[in-house]
Amino acid sequence: MSLAIDPERLLSEIDTLALFSDAEPPAVTRVVFTPTDLKARAWVKTRCKEAGLTVREDAAGNTFARWNGSKPDAPVIGTGSHIDAIPNAGKYDGVVGVLGGLEAIRALQQSGFRPKHSIELLIFTSEEPTRFGIGCLGSRLLSGTLSPDSARRLKDNDDRTLDEVRRRAGFAGELEEVKLPAGYYEAFVELHIEQGPLLERQQIPVGIVTKIAAPASLRVVIEGSGGHAGGVLMPDRRDALCAAAELILAIESAARTSGAIDTVATVGICDVFPGAVNSIPARVRLSVDIRDTDLQRRDLVMRAVEDSCHSISAKRQVSIRSELLNADAPADCAPEIVEALSQACRKHKLNFFPIVSRAYHDSLFIARIAPVAMLFIPCRNGYSHRPDGYASPDDIVRGTLVLAETLAALSQ
Ligand SMILES: [Zn+2]
Repeated sequence: MSLAIDPERLLSEIDTLALFSDAEPPAVTRVVFTPTDLKARAWVKTRCKEAGLTVREDAAGNTFARWNGSKPDAPVIGTGSHIDAIPNAGKYDGVVGVLGGLEAIRALQQSGFRPKHSIELLIFTSEEPTRFGIGCLGSRLLSGTLSPDSARRLKDNDDRTLDEVRRRAGFAGELEEVKLPAGYYEAFVELHIEQGPLLERQQIPVGIVTKIAAPASLRVVIEGSGGHAGGVLMPDRRDALCAAAELILAIESAARTSGAIDTVATVGICDVFPGAVNSIPARVRLSVDIRDTDLQRRDLVMRAVEDSCHSISAKRQVSIRSELLNADAPADCAPEIVEALSQACRKHKLNFFPIVSRAYHDSLFIARIAPVAMLFIPCRNGYSHRPDGYASPDDIVRGTLVLAETLAALSQ
């Protein structure tokens, strides 16, 4: 089998998909179930059908494109990622795994290879938490990590429920039908940009993921007392933003002092009400994101954040409510897939090293129901989730080649 990735086709498809965006190029904004997202999905589905794949969608909008193997009833070899993009993102996050996955399948088809196990490309719904406040919506439902009832209660910022939004987007059926049956997958492999600087720094083209970090997120609402910025004297104030500032620094400090480089904590949203120059902030809403490769250490940081909420609330006479949105366990990648990826790298004389995924991915949830592994390619400066995110054509092609080789080995 001689595998040839078509760089021009793959790179031009990545460029074309980036044009489905609600932001001006080079920025990409593609939020789940918006008209732009639906147009992008339609475009990708057409590419899959052109490759002779059989496309189906579930009630959550997860999209499967299957190349039937000679044993169509055998468990599936899966690959894929997401095409939704946070506001003002770049064009490679998720997309490399989807269009790279498609290109890997086409390269295998053109090489004359015939799989025994069917190979299936999966485009996950809403990996990004932008619209419904929770990431990996599609893979949580596929793996049964999120119950259909909890999913139905999710709302977007316009107070529309997931159920309403997905039905309006054309995804009918019941969410109960989304969970995949046990044994569906033989293996699942996701190709992704690293979203960190290690591969580029060490000039290694492939990172083989051995572990995916455990994410947790909270929504915190702080209520103090508003008033005129001139009229209310300092001793009488219960300024919600000052309390938030203290809490944000406490969160930073909890992560910094965990004792491990793998602990990270971020406050990415700070909404201030009423948000006027001459008005004391009465209410602040924060988002808190905490991650670690070690569950206990992650949970220690979460407890420290809770303690800070209590002490700051008492000290500043404000109310602080925190709501846990998710607290997921880390996942270990399957040794047999890690080995298949390593073999593929050796075969093509590509350097590789084991790496931890600090960002989480749909593979974290698919790991609950299937053996999973991921491969990373370098991205410039480790940038992602910003318009200047960049992965080089050579690296994209190399990653796709390793993916194709691995899918071939797994599907035998
Ligand atoms: Zn991603």
